[in-house]
Amino acid sequence: MYIFAAQLTIMRVTPKKRLGQHFLTDETIAEQIARTLSPNDKNILEIGPGMGVLTKYLIQDQSLNIKVVEIDHESVEYLQHHFPQLGENLIEGDFLTLDLSRLFQSSFTVIGNFPYNISSQILFKVLENKDNIPSLVGMFQKEVAERIASKPGNKHYGILSVLLQAFYDIDYLFTVNETVFSPPPKVKSAVIRMQRNPEKELHCDELLFKTVVKTAFNQRRKTLRNSLRSINFEKGFLNDPIFNLRPEQLSVSDFEKLVRNVQKIM
Ligand code: SAH
Repeated sequence: MYIFAAQLTIMRVTPKKRLGQHFLTDETIAEQIARTLSPNDKNILEIGPGMGVLTKYLIQDQSLNIKVVEIDHESVEYLQHHFPQLGENLIEGDFLTLDLSRLFQSSFTVIGNFPYNISSQILFKVLENKDNIPSLVGMFQKEVAERIASKPGNKHYGILSVLLQAFYDIDYLFTVNETVFSPPPKVKSAVIRMQRNPEKELHCDELLFKTVVKTAFNQRRKTLRNSLRSINFEKGFLNDPIFNLRPEQLSVSDFEKLVRNVQKIM
């Protein structure tokens, strides 16, 4: 009886809401995500492998150098049992606190059906390590994927779009239904691909850029003149017609230009 119970725990991981666990049950979608990797993607870091539905397809390609990071001990035990070949490349830990500088000898691709409760934090960590992460492929909630991929003028265009598109070209690949997960999430999902653009750095001060973008979108219905009032510009400067616009009307390069002008008067 005891042996039977022990085997059962290895057969399936109990989903934990606090870890954003929604396991993908559709093999075709897992395979499709794995196939979006390009031949340049050699070092791969999978975030949150869970029961390894995606990992299984990744390790089929012997030329890939794969590491996976999983926070859930029960999932780690499951993976050790079902994918013993992962060995030391299976890291038990939190991606958000993981030291990425020592993982691989060179740059690496991030992949995953990501834990949705920490989507933005994952993306901000990727941005912090952008020069080491030439691409990212994976699944987010549909709404987050839309926010990442949207262009100016779109209602989903916001902080994530501007900050990520400054450094990455984004492709919204396909939408995924709730029904292919166990347990099903409340929202639809979507797979995106991000590829680092050639911009080494912004054409303006990066910190000020982030402040301006965040301040502007925090009151997205207001014109820039009203939302950026807190930054205390001289009155004359605010006469520039750009301040009549709302943040969703500005492209990445418009924001850069605005910040360059702000720098001049500061
Ligand atoms: N990729 C699997 C599981 C998706 S659910 C599948 O498609 O079925 C999200 C996974 O991320 C879970 O396994 C969860 O335990 C893991 N996870 C959640 N927070 C994490 C973190 N901070 N670091 C690493 N893994 C995390």
